[in-house]
Amino acid sequence: MPTYTRTKVAELIDGTIDRETLHEMLSAPKDLERFVTYIDILQERMSWKDKIVLPYGPKLYCVQVAATKQWTIRCECGHDFCDQSENWKLHALINVRDTQEKLEEVYPRLMAPTSTWQVYREYFCPECGTLHEVEAPTPWYPVIHDFEPDIETFYRDWLSLPVPERAAA
Ligand code: ZN
Repeated sequence: MPTYTRTKVAELIDGTIDRETLHEMLSAPKDLERFVTYIDILQERMSWKDKIVLPYGPKLYCVQVAATKQWTIRCECGHDFCDQSENWKLHALINVRDTQEKLEEVYPRLMAPTSTWQVYREYFCPECGTLHEVEAPTPWYPVIHDFEPDIETFYRDWLSLPVPERAAA
């Protein structure tokens, strides 16, 4: 299994990686060290020191709070949404595009979905305004809790790493 240098993993995060290496990375079995390197690079870039347990999105993380060992969902800016067991979207700032006019702000005219069939829900960080997620459900559909990773199993069985300590919520 090839392992990649820190520089290559950083390029992967930044989207500046060369095509050959990217292709090689995608087609080869994943090396376990890469996750650790990946988290390490992200961690260095954060303004806070609490440990990143798992990235949830480009600027959204599951983080272990150093003082309490609670797992929280945190924006890159440092804003904590809620405990990891909850749906962070319910703690976000939500913009719903539920009229033809609002949908056409993001779609070219006549290409927008019909607002009685589909709406857009945009989930923002209330502190820095980063758009973390966009959902395109039918209007009556409840807020989707789409990412519930089994972090314990991922660490233990996939990475063979100790599971970061977690205090009860
Ligand atoms: Zn934020």
